[in-house]
Amino acid sequence: MNLNLARAKRIDYPAPTKELVNQLRRMPGIGPRSAERIALWMVQSKDARPKEISAALQEVGASVQACPVCGFFTTEALCPFCEDETRLNGMICVVELATDILPLERTGAFVGRYHTLGGRISPLDHVGPDDLRIGALMDRILKESPQEIILALSSDVEGEATSNYIADLLKNQNLKVTRIAQGLPAGGGLESADELTLSRALAGRRQIT
Ligand SMILES: [Zn+2]
Repeated sequence: MNLNLARAKRIDYPAPTKELVNQLRRMPGIGPRSAERIALWMVQSKDARPKEISAALQEVGASVQACPVCGFFTTEALCPFCEDETRLNGMICVVELATDILPLERTGAFVGRYHTLGGRISPLDHVGPDDLRIGALMDRILKESPQEIILALSSDVEGEATSNYIADLLKNQNLKVTRIAQGLPAGGGLESADELTLSRALAGRRQIT
């Protein structure tokens, strides 16, 4: 009995299943257990529709890109925010990530333009101003001559440093620089804030230069 146990080959799931588990594990928020659960569901469930899932994955990879102007997601040359001629041109709201835009938009408190930096200045992570879309923001300001730049970055140390850096760059320009502040949780990103908090934060923005 013991001999057989020692000799018995260790059997795992088939290679394609294991490969799927490995791919799923690379996704954010999916640990080894979840990855295995999803892979086995895909193998066993009548409703799994693996073809549709794989088509959706390929489609998103092939067609969704960053808007060259504001950095939001788009499948066209420009995103719907930049295309929309009814939005106000005089205000640009600067955010860290493209995923910060829709939470702000859902507040209904802002009808201007957006600009995504692609992160924030973080020396520890080797992210400097040149790694962000700050140059692109300066180009837009020259081209679009907005009256107000609203800095809607996180309220933690790196967010503050990034806000200050941009405010400094814009110091002697003929425009108002404001910053959303009130009500945002310290250390929290915009993504985690609810609509009411965000809309109050926008309404309570203060001028910094
Ligand atoms: Zn855009």
